[in-house]
Amino acid sequence: MELQRPLPTPMTPEAKPYWDGLKDEKLMLPKCGDCNKAFFYPRIACPHCHSRNVGWVQASGKGVLYSFEIAYRSLNPAYKIEPPYVLAMIELEEGPRIMSNLINIEATPDAVKIGAKVEVVYEKQNDDVTIPLFQPAS
Ligand SMILES: [Zn+2]
Repeated sequence: MELQRPLPTPMTPEAKPYWDGLKDEKLMLPKCGDCNKAFFYPRIACPHCHSRNVGWVQASGKGVLYSFEIAYRSLNPAYKIEPPYVLAMIELEEGPRIMSNLINIEATPDAVKIGAKVEVVYEKQNDDVTIPLFQPAS
């Protein structure tokens, strides 16, 4: 199968639980053990209070569309998804925002609405990488 998009190389230890979780169809978020806030992207210190007491929680996979852009052409030749498609900033129930694609929706300004409820879907890319995409909540 030809890859439809450039893939990350999940190597950094601070992000390993995130990528391992996705392979099991779980959206894992780093969460600070001191200020109790979840955050994204994964990193070694909490961006809210700088604590290094970072653990992991499984996110519900639910959130709302915080912002979006409809791409009518792809500027990166490695990105082979047929436009138009929706680049989406999702605000998860747990608080953090995550950049993704909104799928299973018509990519038009009439169909895509900020604040709409969305849910995660998992798309396996290869044996190492599964990515989280989002669709309108059922
Ligand atoms: Zn913190």
